Amino acid sequence: MIADSSAATITILAIVGYIGVLWLALAFSVIRDARRRAMSQVMFGVAIVLAFVPPFLGALVYFVLRPPQTIDEERALEELYEPSPNGESHTRPCPHCGREIERTFIICPYCRTQFARRCANCDRALRLGWSICPYCATEVVAPAGMKRPPVPR
Ligand SMILES: [Zn+2]
Ligand SMILES: [Zn+2]
Repeated sequence: MIADSSAATITILAIVGYIGVLWLALAFSVIRDARRRAMSQVMFGVAIVLAFVPPFLGALVYFVLRPPQTIDEERALEELYEPSPNGESHTRPCPHCGREIERTFIICPYCRTQFARRCANCDRALRLGWSICPYCATEVVAPAGMKRPPVPR
């Protein structure tokens, strides 16, 4: 009989210890999650209290009420909407010499290769092969000395 009761005590202790470990692990996961989220000091304090009391239920309440986005996720979203800070999108390599030139250039200032020209009407950059401006439908007049490619029939 004595052996039976000590076995029962050990079983109960094991169950209590098991639940205790689960409770602590859940509490720490709540605190770690709360640290990564954008919230005020007061809310963070409430989250820590909820992590421990009432056991399990507090953590459940936290996971229901927590702010929807972590700080990392918010930063990632901001970066998506921000234009690239170093202005990379404004330049491109020259098709002839490969040096960085601005996208709006119609001639490379380094090697003097002309790869586009401007529409006489709307002033947008046009490719040399184009015979009509796709933006304003103005006929492109080839400058003197430049042959317009034959129009295929
Ligand atoms: Zn060039
Ligand atoms: Zn035009």
